Amino acid sequence: MEIIDVHCHCFAGLGQAERVSHGLARLRDAGVSHLAVMGLVNTSLNAQEVWKLIPEGFANLGDPLFNEADDLLQFTQQTGDMLFPMLDTRMLNGDVQSFLHGHLQRGFRGIKGLYLADDANDLRVSSVPATFGISLELYHKREWEIFAFAEANDLPVLYHMDANRYDDMMRAILDDFPRLRINFPHFGIGRKAFSKILDAYPNVYTDIAYMQPHIRRNPVSYSDFISHYPDRVCFGSDALLYQPEIVLNYIELVRSLKLPEELENSLFSANPRRFLGLDRE
Ligand SMILES: [Zn+2]
Repeated sequence: MEIIDVHCHCFAGLGQAERVSHGLARLRDAGVSHLAVMGLVNTSLNAQEVWKLIPEGFANLGDPLFNEADDLLQFTQQTGDMLFPMLDTRMLNGDVQSFLHGHLQRGFRGIKGLYLADDANDLRVSSVPATFGISLELYHKREWEIFAFAEANDLPVLYHMDANRYDDMMRAILDDFPRLRINFPHFGIGRKAFSKILDAYPNVYTDIAYMQPHIRRNPVSYSDFISHYPDRVCFGSDALLYQPEIVLNYIELVRSLKLPEELENSLFSANPRRFLGLDRE
């Protein structure tokens, strides 16, 4: 059975090339055909500021200022089409159109974002308006331009956003961009609030990344949720590019749920293919 991970992060550079390529070989042996990897770009923040927008607990082995794009594109070229690079826009500062267009030209195939309007977010990171000294209006204008670009260019968007806290804003995005393929990861943070979004918007996906402890504690409840939305939930691990064991762990987690074969295949392969747009290649 083919396995596609829609949610990994880079946090590695060419200095880890050997480690990364061994890890990817292990994953290929385990049936993984593609990994969507989020790559950060930082054009203006210094070493101290940059960490305000990164959640704790992730060891960065790559560029200390999180300019990962070049190395991620290089890794992508070296691995055939196994890596699917997505541009992490949280530190985007400046003209959205030309920034995104330039990275798309260079090989990025999707967009990653985080809704960081205030410091009440679930990741306990700083807000984008505070970090860049811009208004909330200007921040929303930036995010809307990103969504408009993604929709116009048919790019998948992985967008971390809490349906509990930002339900209205989530609906506003989805009402304005009905053709956008968007994944709100981690079951939209809260399954209860998020299920109303899934019910209302057919273009919304989610993933199981970072949910391992919750799923292990409550496997039946999560299996039920996945069966209730058979064409929406994607396989994802939140692994860093040099952490194949985390991806393998998540594969084992899914198998432990003993889902019907067709549903397991949807989660591992069919849903990720539709979300990423690989089904049309
Ligand atoms: Zn993530």
